[in-house]
Amino acid sequence: MARYTGPVCKLCRREGEKLFLKGARCFSAKCAFEKRAYLPGQHGQTRRGKLSEYGIQLREKQKLKRMYGVLEAQFRSYYEKASRQKGITGENLLQILESRLDNVIYRLGFAPSRNAARQMVLHRHFIVNGRPVNVPSFRVKSGDVISVKEKSRKMSAIHDSMRRLKDDALVPWLRVDKAKMEGEFVEKPARQDIPITVQENLIVELYSK
Ligand code: SF4
Repeated sequence: MARYTGPVCKLCRREGEKLFLKGARCFSAKCAFEKRAYLPGQHGQTRRGKLSEYGIQLREKQKLKRMYGVLEAQFRSYYEKASRQKGITGENLLQILESRLDNVIYRLGFAPSRNAARQMVLHRHFIVNGRPVNVPSFRVKSGDVISVKEKSRKMSAIHDSMRRLKDDALVPWLRVDKAKMEGEFVEKPARQDIPITVQENLIVELYSK
């Protein structure tokens, strides 16, 4: 599946908030949004008119897609799936995004960002329930166990990232065993346990037009 390959810090500046796409850099003084918290481009500092209702909905959608590194076609298909499921469509959509393997690896602290997690999955550094998986969009289910492959356990990128994950930063629907370098997707997350600031109802309104 294709992915965005342009400059990622511009995306944060475009959305007007930090999307945490670059791992450790996002928490340092080098963060581009900390230095230039205005729109990218020549007129970035002067351009910020009032958004229409459509504009607000569109920005929420773009923000969510960019957070998870998903392009329009795949995002749309997630939305279609979410709308066919029982329950609240917006919450279903977030649950689908959160159960992507690259996101789970990021949340478990094995990678500093979703983008890095995606690269690591493509390079076959992880196994799910004992089997290697190299598909970043793989849907993880309740009870699935994700581990770092034996041969990859010395990778400094994984160790550095695990050191940075504070125990209280782990989301309640995942369990991690740092010594074994494995984690479990305990259950689908409830909305209040997904730590993102998106108003998913606006995205549902946008797609239902
Ligand atoms: Fe966004 Fe991280 Fe770049 Fe800061 S460093 S602008 S949070 S991607």
